[in-house]
Amino acid sequence: MSDKIPLFFECCRPVKGISQGAVFDLQRERYISVPNDLIDIITLGGKKTVSDTIQDFDEDDRSTYQDYLEYLYKLEYIFFVDSDQLNWYPPMNMDWDHPSEITNAILEFDTNSKHDLDKIFKGLEDVGCLALEIRIYDEFELDYLAEILDCAANTGITSIALKYNYFPGLSSEKIISSTEKKYFNLHSIEVYGAKKEEISTVSQRVKVLLHEDQLLSSTHCGFISKESFILNKTFFLESMNFNSCLNRKVVVDVKGQVKNCPAMTEIFGSHHEVSLQNVARESAFQAKWAITKDEVIVCKSCEFRYVCLDCRAFQANPAEGQLHGKPIKCNYDPLSGEWL
Ligand code: SF4
Repeated sequence: MSDKIPLFFECCRPVKGISQGAVFDLQRERYISVPNDLIDIITLGGKKTVSDTIQDFDEDDRSTYQDYLEYLYKLEYIFFVDSDQLNWYPPMNMDWDHPSEITNAILEFDTNSKHDLDKIFKGLEDVGCLALEIRIYDEFELDYLAEILDCAANTGITSIALKYNYFPGLSSEKIISSTEKKYFNLHSIEVYGAKKEEISTVSQRVKVLLHEDQLLSSTHCGFISKESFILNKTFFLESMNFNSCLNRKVVVDVKGQVKNCPAMTEIFGSHHEVSLQNVARESAFQAKWAITKDEVIVCKSCEFRYVCLDCRAFQANPAEGQLHGKPIKCNYDPLSGEWL
């Protein structure tokens, strides 16, 4: 391979951080951490052959460079080409767009909610919404859940995540047995605040998750960890171009108010009085969609900036009137490269 030129596969995107870089394999949904210098050598090194590049190194660093190349090659992050083959591999288009005006929505419910379900779901259908999160904070009747899911079944929503706080009157087993065969767009159920022994539900199709130590509320969001990274191409490209949490999202909160996020205070009217489509077209509503991690303090120097969910509701040291602070519920320090 010494007379060949190393190239990253187009689906393997290198990202430099302040202290280290990472390469994200968007096809196999995995990543590895690598030194920034290695990314520079492969992407900016003038597309030199391995043997030409090695001449630029001290004796000690040569074997390290070769070891890294072998490692990346073995894991299929890079491949080797001859110099006359370089233009056989055009760059991937890094734009992101979607035909739907709104791609994802959150509906919140508590015992006092008086939502007009027909109007909400007609609105979600008008904007082409595909993914819906239903959050129920208080006790609810199975019939009421069925009413919500029936409304969603008559729309183009393809994926529903149900989240609720545990209460003894209605087992998740009962919810699963009465919903999984009827509502094919219900893909996950997350139960908060219940002990493991209280939840024994297994479903062939619906993913059931249990959060023993947490309670669901409108402020329950923005947690960032390695485990929550989203490593697919769609998310990566959306994050490069738009805000990875708020872009094309609409929320109807427990009071029926239309918002960008359940935890944010800015309100764009009651869904009883405004249309979701008109709100989604307002420039004030769309303003936060454009905040990418490349503009967020600290995050702009982090190698994980295109694979982690953003949070604009809870920011570290938010400067007055600014919306560009690091998500407060992230404990990664890009400078040290450590999770604190
Ligand atoms: S520092 Fe910012 S970009 Fe990096 S993992 Fe945390 S939230 Fe994501």
